[in-house]
Formats: sequence, structure tokens, C-alpha cells
Amino acid sequence: MKHAILSLLFILALCNADAQRSNPDILKTRLGRLTIQPVQHASLVLSVNGITIYVDPAGGTKYYKDLAAPGIILITDIHGDHFDLKTLDSVKTASTVLIVPQVVADKLPAADKANAVVLKNGDGTMQSGISIIALPMYNLPESATAMHTKGRGNGYVLKIGGKNIYISGDTQGIPEMRSLKNIDVAFVCMNLPYTMDVNEAADAVLAFKPKVVYPYHYRGQKGLSDITAFKNLVDAGHKKIEVRLRNWYPSL
Ligand code: ZN
Repeated sequence: MKHAILSLLFILALCNADAQRSNPDILKTRLGRLTIQPVQHASLVLSVNGITIYVDPAGGTKYYKDLAAPGIILITDIHGDHFDLKTLDSVKTASTVLIVPQVVADKLPAADKANAVVLKNGDGTMQSGISIIALPMYNLPESATAMHTKGRGNGYVLKIGGKNIYISGDTQGIPEMRSLKNIDVAFVCMNLPYTMDVNEAADAVLAFKPKVVYPYHYRGQKGLSDITAFKNLVDAGHKKIEVRLRNWYPSL
């Protein structure tokens, strides 16, 4: 009986671990301690020195209830797992600056358009002392009928207090990713058929060698990608890259 109760408690603990959001990680920057909070799928929150940045807020208000309101929101693309007007509406404030590609700006209500800074691939902006550069994100081979056509959406590189943070958006291991330099923290997508498999993601990561990489956006048509296999490939290729496996699919 005692065994059965212990087993039950263990199973409940496992279920609970799955349900919970990962704790935030901390990165020291010249602006202070940067808090990195995985939220869900492609959504994350960065906070430093009183500035809070949401990336692709989606999935519902429940994910954001206990988080500070965003001064800046970055949106990568038009699909619902990145650009979710209902969630966006519930988290932004009157003074939130929205950093978006043109296709997203075109879909914003008029009031939000006034707060939007439109970046095309290669453009940059400075917001609250943070440099934000838009990068290409697209499927290979390039094609007009691809799910992600080159030039439509934006990946981003943020320079925060001397640290470079890369957010891939939905992409394959494109040359623009592989040639990145001095990335401290990278968020790299890996899910089929939308982006790339873990092999292609690991190969791209080994090409640009970020100090830390988070697999994110890894739920595909056939369930979750094998992020442990991704970690093993990166570990085998370059021991100094820290692969951080976090729970991007909490059931809140
Ligand atoms: Zn996506």
C-alpha cells in the first residue's frame, strides 16, 4: 500500500513537472541581470533593468498573468503561433512599442499601427537602449509557395547590455543564421513540416556556435521534436555550446 501511494505521488510529481512553466534563466549584462523566461512554443519574455520584452506573445492571456507588462513586443510573422491578436490585445499597454514586419503591420488595428515600428530584413531600431536588428527567416529551397517566404517575416538579433540574443523565428538553417557571429544566447526552431528537423538545426547551430542555445518552437505535425537528440548532436560537435532544454509546452 505504502508503495502504491509513493508511486502515485511520484507520478503526480512527474505530471506536475510537465504542467509547470520553466523557471527563468539569468544572464549578466552591462544593463544588469537579464531574465530569460520561456513561456510557450515560440513565446518568450526577456526582462532587464525595468524593460520587459515579449517575443511572439500567443496562446492566451493565462501564460502572461504573473509577468510584467511589455514595453516592447517583437513579432516575427503572420501565423497564429506568432501573431495572435487576442493575446496581443490582452498583454500590451497603451505605450507598448510593437516591432513587426510589414505583413504584420498590415493586419494590425489602426490604434496599434500608431505604436508599430516596421522593420524589413536587415533594418534595425534602438528602443530603450536595446538594439534590435531584423534578420531573414525562410524555408529552403526558396520558393514563392513556401510556408515561409524570404523577406516576409523577421528573425531578430537583440543587443542588450553588450550581449547578443538571437531569435530565429520560423526558418531553416539559412546562410544568414549560419554566418551569425558572437551570439550569446540563441533561440532556434525545429519542427516539421514548418521549419527544420533537429539534424538541420544542430548543423546550423554548430556553424554559428552560440554560447547558449534553447531549442524552442519544437512542436510539429507529429508531436514534439526530439530535442534530446538535438542536444546530443550539438554536444558531440562542440562541447562548449550549452544546450538548454526547457519546457516550452506547459499545460497551464
Ligand atoms: Zn511558427
